[in-house]
Amino acid sequence: MKITVIGTGYVGLVAGACFAEFGNEVVCLDLDEKKIKYLNEGKLQIYEPGLPEIIERNREAGRLQFTTNIEHSVSHGFLQVIAVGTPSGEDGAADLTHVISAAKNIGRYVEHDTVVVNKSTVPVGSASRVQAVIIKEMKKRGISCQLDVVSNPEFMKEGSALEDFMRPDRIVIGSSSQDATEFLRRLYAPLNRYRDRILVMDERSAELTKYAANTMLATRISLMNELATLSEKLGADIESVRRGIGSDPRIGYHFLYAGCGYGGSCFPKDIRALQNTAGEYGLHLSILESVEKVNRAQKLSVLDKIRTRFGEHLDGKQFALWGLSFKPNTNDMREAPSRIVINGLVSRGASVNAYDPVAMKDAQKIYADDKVVKFSDNPLSTLNNAEALIILTEWKAFRSPDFDAIKNDLRNPIIIDGRNLYDPSHMRDMGFEYISVGRPSNLLG
Ligand code: NAD
Repeated sequence: MKITVIGTGYVGLVAGACFAEFGNEVVCLDLDEKKIKYLNEGKLQIYEPGLPEIIERNREAGRLQFTTNIEHSVSHGFLQVIAVGTPSGEDGAADLTHVISAAKNIGRYVEHDTVVVNKSTVPVGSASRVQAVIIKEMKKRGISCQLDVVSNPEFMKEGSALEDFMRPDRIVIGSSSQDATEFLRRLYAPLNRYRDRILVMDERSAELTKYAANTMLATRISLMNELATLSEKLGADIESVRRGIGSDPRIGYHFLYAGCGYGGSCFPKDIRALQNTAGEYGLHLSILESVEKVNRAQKLSVLDKIRTRFGEHLDGKQFALWGLSFKPNTNDMREAPSRIVINGLVSRGASVNAYDPVAMKDAQKIYADDKVVKFSDNPLSTLNNAEALIILTEWKAFRSPDFDAIKNDLRNPIIIDGRNLYDPSHMRDMGFEYISVGRPSNLLG
């Protein structure tokens, strides 16, 4: 099958590489020349486990190409997959500029019948908008071909995107065309052998399903974070509570960890976008408003704990910080809690020495002009002269560190853990002051 993928971010790259892995001929288009140049040199700007290998394998086999040439890429595919970004606009609505531009480009260059698959997360009604834009462009050229626009939202998670794409829980196809649905069934057949994972629905329901999934997951996190704040007041342990409720199959264990708030490119913007959509229909989604509000407060909670322990003014004080990406196994720092914590520390006069297994280059770009934010190439080197160690991402490599070295190198044996990585009683036995989320802190002295 000949496939064009428009946009080579997380979703486009993973989808393009995986479609090529099944034997399809895939051309990936991006307007970012640097990105395409890197990809053609076998280099990636994003960190995603397993992705470099699958890209290389399929590039070498000639099934996967990268280009900035719009005409070449659009005329290649019978299937055009839109996977461009849909960032938050100023009012919180999803900014569809890139989606509309991709649609225009399809309309300008397509010469044959085509199925357009929208993988970007877009507001309800976008499939018909995309269809109208493409038809308008085709009409300008006097072209009339069969065109179907299908909503096929993507549920992959950064950090396990390949695994998620290759073993999806479900494949949602929002389509009112039987032909297009059948075509997508054939496309996804390699992923659909073990059991039928395909859920066919109308376009609008498919578009809403993606927002519903992300807002549901964010709601679980915010509820656990709010309960964690209550636990701290009550002297309860949110980890015990998590196990106590997760064991109920109606609740389950996923997305029940208290922490320093969710971030990333999806949850925050998708919650805002859905609220905006509701507003257009005169509705106010009060649960989602609270979810966002709790998350904002949770990102600040680490700073509150630092204030309680070290006071308002942090002039001349240095802090060690482990974990910059918004979650493990990615270099993505969009809306990461680390950014709020670093900015808060710096604005109160502190300096930061940070480490992350893969997000340091991205962080260095963000803090290029900030002399008080330094980076170390291993976790232990961040500790010298630091008042405390702050942990913000639950990377596996942070789970069993050399506690003796940590205690030895820090000015004070204090760990402020935004991800509840360690056992509080073990920390107490080792002589640490340990401040985590929703669990009793043990304070020294
Ligand atoms: P991204 O920002 O990482 O990448 C988007 C890419 O599209 C960029 O490389 C950009 O240069 C390119 N682009 C923009 N306009 C273009 C155009 N007209 N033609 C060609 N290329 C163009 O985005 P992403 O994280 O891959 O997300 C893409 C969409 O998928 C978003 O709507 C997002 O909400 C959704 N999504 C993301 C994830 C995720 O984990 N990142 C998961 C599921 C769904």
